[in-house]
Amino acid sequence: MLKQHKLELNKKNIEELFEQTTLNESNEKLLQNDSLLNVQIFGNEVILDFEISNPTLQYKKKIESLSTQLLQKKFGEELKVKTNFSIKKVEKEVKIQGNPIPGVKNIIAVSSGKGGVGKSTISANLSVALAKLDYKVGLIDADIYGPSMPIMFDLVGESPKAIDVEGKKKMQPLENYDVKMVSMGFFTELNQAIVWRGPMASKALNQLIWDSHWGELDYLIIDLPPGTGDIHLSLVQAIPLTGAIVVSTPQDIALADARKGVNMFKMDSIDVPVVGIVENMSYFIPEDLPNKKYFIFGKNGAKNLAEQLEINLLAQIPIVQSVREASDAGRPAALQNDTPISNSFINFAKEVVKAVEARNENLPSTEAVKITNMKGCS
Ligand code: ADP
Repeated sequence: MLKQHKLELNKKNIEELFEQTTLNESNEKLLQNDSLLNVQIFGNEVILDFEISNPTLQYKKKIESLSTQLLQKKFGEELKVKTNFSIKKVEKEVKIQGNPIPGVKNIIAVSSGKGGVGKSTISANLSVALAKLDYKVGLIDADIYGPSMPIMFDLVGESPKAIDVEGKKKMQPLENYDVKMVSMGFFTELNQAIVWRGPMASKALNQLIWDSHWGELDYLIIDLPPGTGDIHLSLVQAIPLTGAIVVSTPQDIALADARKGVNMFKMDSIDVPVVGIVENMSYFIPEDLPNKKYFIFGKNGAKNLAEQLEINLLAQIPIVQSVREASDAGRPAALQNDTPISNSFINFAKEVVKAVEARNENLPSTEAVKITNMKGCS
C-alpha cells in the first residue's frame, strides 16, 4: 500500500519519509493536511507527535496504523511506534448558518437517508440520555412525515401553551423526562397525512425554533424527516446547526442513503460538520439464548462506512424488544436504570458530547466567543 524506501533509523530520515510517502490508491501525501511535529527515538521505540485536522478516532487509528506499517517496513518489524495527536485549529471560517438562538449552546440535527432505520428512536433516547447526564436538553420533532415524539414522550393530546416573555408571545415547550419538546405534530393531527413543501416545512420549523421559549439549553436536538430531498435542504439551511448525526442500519441499501445524508451536510451551501454516524439495529441477542448474536441487517456496515468517510462511529445500538416497547409506551428505553440498552444510549450520548466539545474547541476564536457569550442570555 505504501511506497518502499531503504533508510537508517534517525529523526531526519523519519521526517523525510513522512514528507515523501504517498498512498497508492489516491496518490495523496500520507500527511496531506497534517504535520509531523516531533520525532523521538528511544532504542527500538519511536514516538511521533502529529498535528491533525480531522479529530476523529477513526482517523487517528488510520494514521497510527499507516505510520507503524511504514516505519516497520523500513526499520524492522521489532520497531515499536507510539503516536500522540494534537488537533490543528481550522483556518477556514466555520460558518453557523443563520443566527444563533440566544441561550442555546449546541443544535444537533439527527437525520437518516431512509425511513424506518430508527432515527426518531435514536433522537428520543439521545435527548433523554443527555438529560440523565445533567445537560439541559430541548427536542424538536421536525419529522413531518410521521411526528412520533408526542407518543414517545407520553404527551399525546397535549399542546404547548402560549406565554408572555418580555412582551412577546412565545410557545412554552412541553416537558417530560427533563426534556423540553415541541413537535410538528402540534400543527396537525397525528394521523392526518399532509403534503408539505420545502418552504412550508421550513417556515413551520422556524416557528418551532424561534417562537419557543427554550430558556438555557446545552443541547437542542432536531429530529429531521428522513431523506435528502429539497425539503431537507430547506430545513437544514433554515437552522443554525452545530452539527449533524446520521443514523443508519448496517444494511447495504440503508448505507447508500446514509452516505448521501453525510454528503448533503458536506455540500458547500450547507457545510455542517458531521458529528458522526450511529449504527442502529446492529445485532440481536435473544433473551433466552444470551450467547447467540444475530446480525440481522449485516455486520458492521455503518462502522465500515464511518471508517471510509473518516467520521466518528458514535454507537452500535442492538435491536432490543424493550426499545420498541418503551417507545410505544411513551418512556424511552434510555430511562431504564443501568440496563445494557440504557447504558448503550448513555455511552452514545457521552460520545456525542465528546465529539461536539472537540468540534467547539476547534472553532476559530470569534465563533468560540460567540458561543461562550450566548451562555447567560435568554
Ligand atoms: P425512523 O424515525 O427512522 O422512521 P423509528 O425510530 O420510527 O424510525 O423506528 C422504526 C421502528 O423500529 C419503530 O417501531 C421503533 O420502535 C423500532 N426500533 C428502532 N430502533 C430499534 C431498536 N434498536 N430496537 C428495537 N426496535 C427499534
